[in-house]
Amino acid sequence: MDLTFFNEQIKKYERRIRAIEASPSSAFLKTNVELYRMELENLDRTLEAWKSGRPFAIMPGMEIFARIMGFYPWNYIAAGDRVTDPSRYLDAAIKAGYSDHSCDRTLTALGLLLRGEMPPPRLVVSMRFACEPERLTTVAAAKHSDALYYAIDNPLGWTYEALKYVTEQLWEIIGLAEKTIPGIQYDEDLLLEILHWTDESKKLVRQNYEMRKNVPCPIGPKDAFRLDYVRGSKRGVEHYERRLAEITERAEKGVGAIKEERLRVAWMATGPYSRDTFKILEEMGVSVPWFHYGGAASMYSVVPYGENEKRYGRKLKPMEKVAALAHFSGWAQTADYWIDPLITVCRELKIDAVVDFLQPGCVVTKGLKKIISTRVKNELGIPVLDLEGRQFFNSPAAQAEMNRRLAEFLELCIQNKEAGHPAALPEV
Ligand code: SF4
Repeated sequence: MDLTFFNEQIKKYERRIRAIEASPSSAFLKTNVELYRMELENLDRTLEAWKSGRPFAIMPGMEIFARIMGFYPWNYIAAGDRVTDPSRYLDAAIKAGYSDHSCDRTLTALGLLLRGEMPPPRLVVSMRFACEPERLTTVAAAKHSDALYYAIDNPLGWTYEALKYVTEQLWEIIGLAEKTIPGIQYDEDLLLEILHWTDESKKLVRQNYEMRKNVPCPIGPKDAFRLDYVRGSKRGVEHYERRLAEITERAEKGVGAIKEERLRVAWMATGPYSRDTFKILEEMGVSVPWFHYGGAASMYSVVPYGENEKRYGRKLKPMEKVAALAHFSGWAQTADYWIDPLITVCRELKIDAVVDFLQPGCVVTKGLKKIISTRVKNELGIPVLDLEGRQFFNSPAAQAEMNRRLAEFLELCIQNKEAGHPAALPEV
C-alpha cells in the first residue's frame, strides 16, 4: 500500500481551501470550499475502507451499482484525472508494456494501480461503448488485480428492450459476485434510498442547467469543468442545494463569474486541464456555459434524454433505473445521440462557438469531428474549432501552440460578434 496519491490529494484540497478562504474570487463558487471538504472526507473514508480490507469495485459511471452490492466504489478514471505528477504514472504503464498512444487519463489511472497507489479492485465491470481506451484500461486493471471481470453487452438505441437486456446482465453480476466474493450481498433497501436521493439530485442539476441560460453566465470556466454529479446521498443533495442557491443569487443579480462576458463557448469532450488555457478564457472574457462530455446530456436532462419515462415509454423498476444510468452515455450510442443534444444546448444556452478538443488516442472524438463541424455550421451557423492537445503530456512547445490557436480563434469570434456578424465563420 503506497499512500503517495492519497497524501498528495489531501494536500491539494487543503491548499485549495486555504487559497479560497484567503482571497475569494468571483471566478470560483464559494461553495467549492464545502465541496473540497467533502472530497477530504471521502479520501479519509476510502483510506479506512482500504486499510480494513473492504472489497473495492471499479465500474465507471455505475458507482451506485457497486454500493448496493456492498462494494466500496472506486472512481478509477477520475483518479487518473487528478494526479499531480502524471509522468510518474505514464512511466509505470509504459514499463508494464502499455503504449503511450492512448489518451492520457486512461494511462495515469492504470499507472496508479500498477504502482500500488490505489486500492486493488475485487470486481471490475465495463461495457461496450465507443471509448475503447476506457474499456481496455479497465480490462487491464482487472488483469493486474486478479479481479472478477464482467463486460456488459450494451445494445444500441435507448429502447426498453435494450434496457431490459442490460438489467438482466446486472442481475447476473449480482449472482456471480455474491457467489464468489465474501461479504457481498445485494441490499434492496439501500438501492431505494440511493434512488430517492438520486432523483432529488437530478432535479437540482436540471435547475443548474436553467441558470446557465443567463447572460452573463454565473458559472466560471473552471467551475464549468467541475462535473455536477448526480448525488445519491442526503449530504450530497444538501450541499448541492447550497451550491445552486449561490449560482441562482448570482444569476438574479446579473453577476457573471468573469469580469466582462464577450463570448459563450461550448467545449467538448475532455477538459483542457492547463492553467494557461483557463487564463486565456478568463482574460478574454470567454465563458463556458456548457461542457459536452459522455453523460452530460443525460445528467442535465437535456430533453428528452435525461427523463427515463419519456425515454423508455414507461415507469421503470428500481434495478431498471440502475441499468438506465449505465445505458444513458452518449458514448454508448450512435453519433446523433451525441450531437442532437449539443445542437439543443447551443440554442438554449446562447452559445457563440464550439471548441472540439481532441486528445491523441481518443477514437471517439476523432471519428465524430467531421459530422459535428458540418452539423453545427449548417444548423446553427456558428464556428467550430478543431483543437488538438493532450490532457497532461503536452510538451511546452505543443501547449503554447495549442493555446495560440485557441486565443486566435476566440479573438476572431469576439470581433465578429462585436461587429454584429456572430455567424461569420473564422477560417480555422
Ligand atoms: S472519450 Fe476520449 S478522452 Fe475520454 S476516456 Fe475515452 S479516449 Fe479518453
